[in-house]
Amino acid sequence: MTDVPLYVGLRIDVDTFSGTRKGVPQLCETLGERGIKGTFFFSLGPDNMGRHLWRLIRPVFLWKMLRSNAPGLYGWDILLRGTMWPGMLIGKRLASVVRQAAEQGHEVGLHAWDHHAWQLRSNSMSDATLEKHLALGVNAFRDIFGFNPTCSAAAGWVCSERTLLRKEKYAMQYHSDCRGESVFRPVVEGMPLTPQIPATLPTYDEIVGQNGVSDKNYNDTLLAMIKPGRLNVLTIHAEVEGQSKTILFDKFLDEAARRNIRLVPMGELLPKPEDIPEGKITQGSVAGREGVFCMQESTGQ
Ligand SMILES: [Zn+2]
Repeated sequence: MTDVPLYVGLRIDVDTFSGTRKGVPQLCETLGERGIKGTFFFSLGPDNMGRHLWRLIRPVFLWKMLRSNAPGLYGWDILLRGTMWPGMLIGKRLASVVRQAAEQGHEVGLHAWDHHAWQLRSNSMSDATLEKHLALGVNAFRDIFGFNPTCSAAAGWVCSERTLLRKEKYAMQYHSDCRGESVFRPVVEGMPLTPQIPATLPTYDEIVGQNGVSDKNYNDTLLAMIKPGRLNVLTIHAEVEGQSKTILFDKFLDEAARRNIRLVPMGELLPKPEDIPEGKITQGSVAGREGVFCMQESTGQ
């Protein structure tokens, strides 16, 4: 324990209809009871995540499903959503729930229009389709909140320099599109763009089920990764910490408070513009997560 509070950005990804309907109110309550504010990133278009999860059934993913108990973690309603009929438009059906997060003082941003499509295809979409996905997401956000999003977080950390360039037109304060170590301004085609606040800590499903990590020691493992003197950003999911792992997350918040760790909206971690160094994004992999993701190029520090 330390006398100096340790600030951790709390990034809350909301990927599905179920996570929005049940996980968001649950997290608003859990965080509200403790006076904690975070940043909710919403998926506002069709929920086809069930399709996403089933399409990924390859040996590695199946092993991961068994390791992390995907049906138990996500629930069958999430796994089946969008598999038999087109997914419901989350923002249209659940606007009041989405708005609730902002009404309770949380920072709100855009995660995706169609999380499934973005994760699977955004890097290979035509420019026009990519732009359409961004515009649909921004417009849906504005319809719900009455203002333009000031921050966004790419679904599944799937992002490229091409995407970054196209996001510039929305003039947001920051994006969280990559995994990395520190806040930076990505330089693309010689131009420094909107700052990135990378996620630094692993998600629940990335570390549980391997190297001896289980629900019993998950919180201690995660808390030990939060270090002073550097950027700390934790990503949680409305579907996991807000639905299937609420008790575990309650305990995490209690223990974090005991250790003088303060969870804050990510925007509070944004330094003054002149203090943000330039950097680059690249593509790489993360332990415990299948696929290739947008990463901050190492600064060698
Ligand atoms: Zn997501």
